[in-house]
Amino acid sequence: MPEMHGKPDITALEEEAIYLGVLTARGIKPLSRLEYEVAPEILDLLQDLGLAVTSVTRVAQNGARVIHWVFGRDSELLERYVSEFDGTILLERDAPTIRTEARYFGFPTCCAETYIRDPHAANSLTPEEQALLFHRACPGCVETPRLIPLYRSALEEARRLHRKLRERPVQAGTRRAPAASEAANSRIRSTGRSSSPSLTSADPTTTPSAMRAT
Ligand SMILES: [Zn+2]
Repeated sequence: MPEMHGKPDITALEEEAIYLGVLTARGIKPLSRLEYEVAPEILDLLQDLGLAVTSVTRVAQNGARVIHWVFGRDSELLERYVSEFDGTILLERDAPTIRTEARYFGFPTCCAETYIRDPHAANSLTPEEQALLFHRACPGCVETPRLIPLYRSALEEARRLHRKLRERPVQAGTRRAPAASEAANSRIRSTGRSSSPSLTSADPTTTPSAMRAT
């Protein structure tokens, strides 16, 4: 997805979240992560796609707690991610972290290794192709060109799902209870996380996260 500069567009963030959901539900990515808050109905949609969704608390270097959403088809894999990262400090990504994340998030090893050596290495993808991805393709990558049509198809499906979700009329008092957010809230309640500002903020632009997704 395009890197977002300046004020993030909530519609684009929602579409990106659903895009990651489709990629993950189709098994193209083992897990995906949102570093920003999304509406409960988006979390519902991810669950409707057959994904297990959980929140992970990270601690920023200034001590602020940051909530990430992580989802995948394989709840054991999700639990492994949680046990590895929940409660840990957010640091500049070092080589071991980049390798670990590449495995969790389905990025080719060649691309991760190149990124470690040279984050700005030029590749032969078009800007449109590179923008579909959540990793930077390595020069001469063999794996990424196979992923491009799968990613493009997932993006089309995500746009369709997003349109359908937002076209549905929402009437106050008649909506079903948002299952994902209730599950999330109970997880949050059970671990005393309800005071997180990023969970209570209605405006994702005010959250401390850098609006990244992986
Ligand atoms: Zn590669």
